[in-house]
Amino acid sequence: MKIAENLYLVGSEQFGISHPLDCNCYLLDSGQTRTLIDTGLGPGVEDILQNIRNLGFAPESIRHIVITHSHIGHWGGANKLRERTGAVVWAPAGAEKAMQDVDSDRAIRVNFEFGRYPTGFVARPCRPDKPFSDADRIALDGVCLRAIRTGGHTPDSTCLLFENREWRGLFTGDVVFYGGRLGLTNLEGCSLAEYRRNIHKIADLRTDALFPGHGVFVLRRGEKHIQRAAHKLADLLMPPTFFEENELIWDREYLSMFNADTRSAAGKGTRETVDADR
Ligand SMILES: [Zn+2]
Repeated sequence: MKIAENLYLVGSEQFGISHPLDCNCYLLDSGQTRTLIDTGLGPGVEDILQNIRNLGFAPESIRHIVITHSHIGHWGGANKLRERTGAVVWAPAGAEKAMQDVDSDRAIRVNFEFGRYPTGFVARPCRPDKPFSDADRIALDGVCLRAIRTGGHTPDSTCLLFENREWRGLFTGDVVFYGGRLGLTNLEGCSLAEYRRNIHKIADLRTDALFPGHGVFVLRRGEKHIQRAAHKLADLLMPPTFFEENELIWDREYLSMFNADTRSAAGKGTRETVDADR
């Protein structure tokens, strides 16, 4: 799905274009090569690759995969996509440990306990090829992303600023969403204090477009959504969280429908139930 000049949405739960546990996966086109921002959980990789082909791009033209933070719903497909495309996997410094030590990830453990993952799903570790740090300018074959470490959702959460002559957009992962909602969760590493400390780093970037890791994106006035989050964080009460209202992905019955689809499709050899091998 084309969403702006040289930018496409190729994976997403809420837009219904890949697996329901996939985050928004964005494809940036530099003209010669492509960069994928986040990969989804893994079972949606074939959908994502097909979406990319449907846009007229060869999967092999993806030379870079950039991960916004260490939650597996954002990088779980990276192994398989790296194998299929030969792309380099970039991830925030500090995310490598969580991406390789999946057994200690409470989010993964709880999702297994609550029966949310597809039948046969295996959480396999991923070793990133290249780490990036706060304030790094990541040069990707004609595309430049500015890394802005914005802890709060996770300590390694990093927003990525992209600019061209027409507009500037911020890929926010799970840091901030439409309407200024935050990525607050009941997980280790999520911190209101860190949110308060870091939100100013993205509040005054004159951001036109806001590209969050889930749900609606906006092409204009993106900064207003971030400033609303900053305003809420300056107040005394708990700010609104995106995940609280995103109920379908917490619904076992809803997800089991996709498990059934996946099982029958896999029997025809069109889709895989198990995530990428290392
Ligand atoms: Zn997350």
